[in-house]
Amino acid sequence: MLTQVGDGVWVRQSAWVWTNSIVVRGEDGLILVDPGIDGSELNQLAEDLDRLGIPVVAGFSTHPHWDHLLWHARFGDVPRYATPAGAQAARDARERAQAMAAQSASGIPLELIGLVTPLPADGGPVPGEILEHQAHAVGHAAVLLADRGVLLAGDMLSDVLIPLLDAGRPDQVGAYETALDRLGEAARHVDVLVPGHGEVAEGPEVAARLAADHAYIDALRRGEEPLDARLGTDADWLSGPHQSNLEQARGR
Ligand SMILES: [Zn+2]
Repeated sequence: MLTQVGDGVWVRQSAWVWTNSIVVRGEDGLILVDPGIDGSELNQLAEDLDRLGIPVVAGFSTHPHWDHLLWHARFGDVPRYATPAGAQAARDARERAQAMAAQSASGIPLELIGLVTPLPADGGPVPGEILEHQAHAVGHAAVLLADRGVLLAGDMLSDVLIPLLDAGRPDQVGAYETALDRLGEAARHVDVLVPGHGEVAEGPEVAARLAADHAYIDALRRGEEPLDARLGTDADWLSGPHQSNLEQARGR
């Protein structure tokens, strides 16, 4: 079910890791940001879009991980964009993304995974401001819709996911510090934050999300073990990524 979270901004949450498919109304039609996950969910999203009665004109992938590179034929054969670095990485990792999607979820149209092209410098059909940074994944972008008071954060600022450092690249602690500063500046213009996974944050919760990611990264910077509510008793699945964050931070 699509939920409106701002002027011309809707979110549909997947059962798979609380993934948020985001729909943004642009000048000429709808832009789908990170639609997912299961084939049946993509179908339901297509039905929700039919009910909105506005055509889909483009897609946008916030970063080149498989769960953010999905598409369905019912959304139409329209351009799908990412940052230039994100598009390059998506091309390079397409087969791996297809394998991971096939392994992780059912009914995903594998042939449509990762077919993204570089977003034009003027943003093309994607409204708002693209905030590109180096945390979590190459070419990772947030989208600031300042006039609507909404920030689409990609895989940052989640209430369920800790910061997940890109294991393949150096100084992710520094990359997160830079990215969080940027997102913090952007968040001053919004009262709604849509993370890639987890609940939409509103009002004071937006600042709380920033504070939580900051605290985690600050602890890594100090060489300490982060105390993080997201690493609770029912979050065993995060202990592996958490350990690899600690190792990467120590080896920095
Ligand atoms: Zn993700």
